Amino acid sequence: PQTDPQVGAAVKAADRAHVFHSWSAQELIDPLAVAGAEGSYFWDYDGKRYLDFTSGLVFANIGYQHPKVVAAIQEQAGKLATFAPAFAVEARSEAARLIARRTPGDLDKIFFTNGGAEAVENAVRMARLHTGRPKVLSAYRSYHGATAAAINLTGEPRRWPSDTGTAGVVRFWAPFLYRSPFHAETEQQECERALQHLADTIAFEGPATVAAIVLETIPGTAGIMVPPPGYLEGVRALCDEHGIVFVLDEVMAGFGRTGKWFAADHSGVVPDLLTFAKGVNSGYVPLGGVAISGAIADTFARRPYPGGLTYSGHPLACAAAVATLNVMEEEGIVEQAARTGEDVLGPGLRELARRHPSVGEVRGTGVFWALELVRDTETREPLVPYNPVGEANAPMAAFAAAAKERGLWPFVNMNRTHVVPPCTITEAEAKEGLAALDEALSVADEHTV
Ligand code: PLP
Repeated sequence: PQTDPQVGAAVKAADRAHVFHSWSAQELIDPLAVAGAEGSYFWDYDGKRYLDFTSGLVFANIGYQHPKVVAAIQEQAGKLATFAPAFAVEARSEAARLIARRTPGDLDKIFFTNGGAEAVENAVRMARLHTGRPKVLSAYRSYHGATAAAINLTGEPRRWPSDTGTAGVVRFWAPFLYRSPFHAETEQQECERALQHLADTIAFEGPATVAAIVLETIPGTAGIMVPPPGYLEGVRALCDEHGIVFVLDEVMAGFGRTGKWFAADHSGVVPDLLTFAKGVNSGYVPLGGVAISGAIADTFARRPYPGGLTYSGHPLACAAAVATLNVMEEEGIVEQAARTGEDVLGPGLRELARRHPSVGEVRGTGVFWALELVRDTETREPLVPYNPVGEANAPMAAFAAAAKERGLWPFVNMNRTHVVPPCTITEAEAKEGLAALDEALSVADEHTV
């Protein structure tokens, strides 16, 4: 790769002078200046290369700079770079058709947004208007985005500074056996007790006040907790019993990440609304959306839907989605993610867990894995406290620095590292990453009791 440290220094200087970064104390961050990326790797202006175990923010499912997707964006820019949402436009029509072909059940109408949070906002609006009810139920240990409704639905600390407490959101505990809120000892107990807790929550809130239950099919940033068999089916049954709209948020889990097109495909559960973004076009151009069931689409057949966006279904973003979805099919990328999980990442990570006292649990599927790092595998005390600040986060910071030194860019959230590389990662690349992770975990081991 062509790199020039002087250019890198200028990029960094302008960033520090003028770019205001997400989720950060502006003077306490030190963003790496990135010169380029390809496949599963990116590199800086000194030519140091990193294997990306994060897929950006878990969006680059087909890896960086796929030539066919880059060419499709270039071609669309030459043909029709932009157009207003009220018109029928070839790239938008084709993207909607290809997405509807993959979404479960009768989710055949697509409302396009610019990203995940806007998808969640619109799903909630649709559910409230469809049911005429005010409240939305969401899970602790969840992330749904940073706009007003989406951040209020979020069940982790990023909500706290923006929590208005008036968004009509009620939170409940979803299943998570390793840190069971229900003192369960088996997956089956966890499933039954979590469903009873949700049924009780609905009963005490008043079923006729609940418009929607919003769940990540497999919670992502909050820890990649694959739900126990029967849980999503049970939530579906509760929604049917009470006329509640079931929204599955597949912004992170969708489009191959879990080894299926959608995480819902593992159980066969069909939600009423499904939100997506990220993997739909691997983040090459911002795009998200809501896939809508026949019944909810009918609500707005003769009554206007009171929501919209200037860039809903932007031609460049939709052309990128069309090319991405075609490439994923042609190259068997979803199947590759499933195989990599079963043959390489699953066994490799479990082997690391056997050797490293800092690894409390390994869980996941496809290219969607979490390692729960602990001080003590007996008590399961997390390696760092919940929502660690400053010095309290030092053990995780040391782990991350050790990984980066070894050319591996890790995803770190609280006491967890997530292994979420592109679906296209090769076996050799995955093994290279596991070897670097092995060495970095030795640094985490130093903080165990
Ligand atoms: N929903 C889930 C499950 C997510 O993981 C995210 C982002 O990480 C969002 C919603 C928000 O998406 P965006 O950042 O595109 O608004």
